[in-house]
Order: sequence, then structure tokens, then C-alpha cells
Amino acid sequence: MKPTIIRPQGLPDSVSSPVVTPIMPSVVYASDTPDALDAQYEGRTSGYTYAREGHPNADVLARRIDALEGATGGIVTGSGMAAVTAALLGLCKAGDHVLGGDQLYGRSLRMMRDDLPRLGIETTLADPTDAASMEAALRETTRLVLIEVVSNPTLRLADLDGIAALCKARDILLVVDNTFTTPRAIKPFEQGADVVLHSVTKLLAGHSDVTLGWVAAKDPDLQRQLYDFIVTTGLTPSPFDCWLAERGLVSFDLRFDRAQRTAETLGRWLAGQAGVTRVLYPTRDDHPDRARAQALLRGTGGNMLSFEIEGGRAAANAFAAAAEGVAFAPTLGDVGTTLSHPASSSHRGLTPEARAAIGISEGFFRVSVGLEDPEALQDTFGAGLAAARGAR
Ligand SMILES: *Cc1c(COP(=O)(O)O)cnc(C)c1O
Repeated sequence: MKPTIIRPQGLPDSVSSPVVTPIMPSVVYASDTPDALDAQYEGRTSGYTYAREGHPNADVLARRIDALEGATGGIVTGSGMAAVTAALLGLCKAGDHVLGGDQLYGRSLRMMRDDLPRLGIETTLADPTDAASMEAALRETTRLVLIEVVSNPTLRLADLDGIAALCKARDILLVVDNTFTTPRAIKPFEQGADVVLHSVTKLLAGHSDVTLGWVAAKDPDLQRQLYDFIVTTGLTPSPFDCWLAERGLVSFDLRFDRAQRTAETLGRWLAGQAGVTRVLYPTRDDHPDRARAQALLRGTGGNMLSFEIEGGRAAANAFAAAAEGVAFAPTLGDVGTTLSHPASSSHRGLTPEARAAIGISEGFFRVSVGLEDPEALQDTFGAGLAAARGAR
């Protein structure tokens, strides 16, 4: 071999092709000539140049998520928060106003509260279950409304139709974070959203081994604006992460359906146990937004379930310690069931009074139901409840 040759000299010949997408970690792509590069930049030919601007593994993953959401040209980002950042900072300018739902994901709330105002973008939060209170918070300068369809952790349903109508009438961009609900339950573009985004980290990739996001706009000009912002600010993902997420995504619908069935069963079972004061699940008869959940999610309750036990923090500690079969970890959408305690994690920044106002007590838990055998899950929750009763 000539020692001066460093570049790969091509792959071995094969008349058959791989059945799995290869991982392509190359940061740069070589073109034949300056004319050929011109043609690429001018869009007369298609080809990659530099991985921050795009690479095959990101595009393969993006096309799969596009297909689920009914989007074209969606962009994979390095995290879900990168997708939120792209939507908020890539589409707004100083002087604009942004209205958000008051129970958004914690870091989205923080971006609304701290980062946008620092950059001259005013923000307000309002209750998305009530379109009238959202309407009252709109301003002349409102550029964008950001909501999630199902809130964390109390699983309230946004009035998506009402809010979409408000936005349409005023030419305001409606951005929907569809992480919790997923396209299995709702396709926000069909319900009037202008921009849809995901934390792919959660249910779509589904194995808690990759941090990624995805964002798409309906309007091609906005889509281009998002792309340029993402590439300029470096919110782009790694090929290996995209490859892992593609592998996870293949089983997304099966995982979702299985976890949902188990969540329904577990919710029914929990509601009958001593010491359980409340079970929150969108399709349950006692859910405050049941009718809206039926209409918006077409009966799809999802894999998220919340419940409350008697006995305050002592009982909560005993429950988490004794429910050994589930991870006490602040994430969701994993193949394994995870349990989170909002008062000590996502909502620890709120005063006890502010938490009480949205129904989060020390005995409140949120469950992201995974793929375990439903009876095994009941056993571990049963052990947790018995320990909690002993600690009261
Ligand atoms: C996790 C999450 C995010 C942020 O996603 P990362 O991939 O962790 O950056 C945004 N929105 C919702 C609803 C989430 O659950």
C-alpha cells in the first residue's frame, strides 16, 4: 500500500446490499471538482458537504419521523431542547411576544422565563386547557404560541382546536411539542399546528440511550429558516445517535400500543388499592378532560399515568424504595417503566402552594409505563403501596 494514501478507497464489491442503514460518521464529503461543488450548493445536484449542515443518518431518521407526523423536510436536532430552541429563537425576533402553556416541559418554561426576555422577546404563560385564558394573554406583538397537548404531570388536555382557531385568526404561529402524545395519538399538523417538534429522546427512540429532537414547519420558508438557524447555531445531531434512534423508532408503534394497554390496566388496578387517593389517566371516566381526550386523542390514553398516595413525603419515600422493579428516574418513554416524583424533581422550583394549585402533593407520582409484564408491574407497585401504608 502506498503510504501517502490515507483516504478510503471504497468498500469491497457486493452485489447484495445491507438491510440496516450503515452509520456514516464522515464530517466532510469530497466532491469531484469546483464545478461539481457549485452544482451541489446551487441545488442542481444533491450531495452532502459538511456534517453540521446535514448527513445521511440524520436525513434517514428525519424522513421516518416526517412520515409519522405527516411532515416534509423535518430536521433532526441534537436534543429535544435544541428543537424547542430552534422554534423559539429561530422564528422570533426582539420585540416579539411569545405565549406558552403554563405546564410546559421544565426547560421550555425556563427558556420562556429567563432566556427569551434576556434577548428582548417578551413572554407570558397561560392555561392551555382554557382557550379564553390563552386569548386574554395574546398581544398585538404575539408571534408564536407554544403548547403541549397533554401536560406534565397532571395530564390535562389543551384546548388544541380552540387555540388553533385563535392563532389562525391572528396569523400567529402555533407550535406544538408532541413528545408526550406522539403521532400515534395525535398529528398536530392536521389540527392546525404550524410547527411540530419532539424530544426524540423519549418515546420515539424509546430506549434511553440517545438524546435527540426533531422539528418541522408546514411552511417551506419557515422550514428553511429553522434549518439555517439549526445549522448556524450548531444544534445538529451525531450520526451514531441518529442511527440508534432509527433502530428504536422501528418498534415505536408496537411499544406505544403495548405500554398504553398496560397503563390502562395499571390505572384501573391502582384506583382500587387502599391508600391511593387519585389516579390520573386521560381516558378514565373521572379525568377532568375526558371528553376532550376522546375527541383529540381518539381514545388513545398513552403510556403516561399519574397517581397520588396518602401519607406525604414519608409515604412517597417508602413507595419509591420498595417499588424495586421500576426505576425512580426523571425521564419518560423508555422500554422500562420509570417513576418520577414531581415535588422533588420537575416541580421542585415551585412553592408547595403553587404545586398544590396544580394538584401536585408530596404523595404525587408520575409513571411512564414501559414494556414489562403487567402483572409484574402490579406486584412491584403493590410492594410500594404496602411500604407506603406502613410509613404513614
Ligand atoms: C424531554 C422533553 C423535552 C426536552 O427534550 P431533551 O431531548 O431532553 O432535550 C422537551 N419537551 C418535552 C415534553 C419533554 O418531555
